[in-house]
Amino acid sequence: MLIKEAKAQNSKTIIDVKGVKIGSGKPIVIAGPCAVESEEQVFNAAKNLKNIGADILRGGCYKPRTSPYSFQGLEDQGIKFLFDAGKKYSIPVISEVITLEQLEFAYDYLDIIQIGSRNMYNYPLLKELGKFDKPVLLKRAFSATYEEWLLAAEYIINSGNEEVILCERGIRTFEVGTRNTLDITAVPYIKSKSNLPIIIDPSHASGLSEFVEPLSLSAIAVGADGLMIESHPNPKEALCDGRQSLNFDEFERLFNKVKKLSTVLEQL
Ligand code: PEP
Ligand code: MN
Repeated sequence: MLIKEAKAQNSKTIIDVKGVKIGSGKPIVIAGPCAVESEEQVFNAAKNLKNIGADILRGGCYKPRTSPYSFQGLEDQGIKFLFDAGKKYSIPVISEVITLEQLEFAYDYLDIIQIGSRNMYNYPLLKELGKFDKPVLLKRAFSATYEEWLLAAEYIINSGNEEVILCERGIRTFEVGTRNTLDITAVPYIKSKSNLPIIIDPSHASGLSEFVEPLSLSAIAVGADGLMIESHPNPKEALCDGRQSLNFDEFERLFNKVKKLSTVLEQL
């Protein structure tokens, strides 16, 4: 069904990932390192983040880095480590794929397939995703309008997969003080036009760990269906995006505030 038609029928898409319901009205939290760096690191993250209460574990394995000289990810081996960590600590897992070959390999190991900003316009890949039956997290491209983003989602939906979660991760503006500019208006706008869940990634939006908490709280206040937060056992040593990553204590503080705020909002 087209997004417009689904919206007109008032049908809400609630996506159930091993019992975690995305879009149900209660915000969910995805957390984990930018990149899977080793078996030990991702097991450590799974154990601690699950303990704190995270719903889903993230960890990039095929990293679309700006520089070809930066760490490119553990690729297939990383996907296996992420899967094992998720299994051991009973937490669903999400990771990004960039190519169809990667999708075919990673499909069995992942609970949600992530399509990153750089691939939102990769229409052949989006069409292929529609043939798979796992939920897709579709990040907004840095320069995509709401309409382009919703049409990208429709590529997946039209090919047969209606389980699409949108993720606002900051857009590129004239401002260079932060990595990107979080477009908080995306939440009410997308909700006014579509039936799809929308979550916020304050880590890539700001690029600065000290801004992740205030942006997370604003995302919850504006009605986002969840958050995606980068958290690493030791952000200073991270091979990717350490500057925007929270350590587990910082993540726990943020998580507890998010829970408190959503309880207050439910009572309004
Ligand atoms: C990510 O979440 O790992 C990532 C690369 O983000 P984005 O596609 O938003 O840049
Ligand atoms: Mn990252």
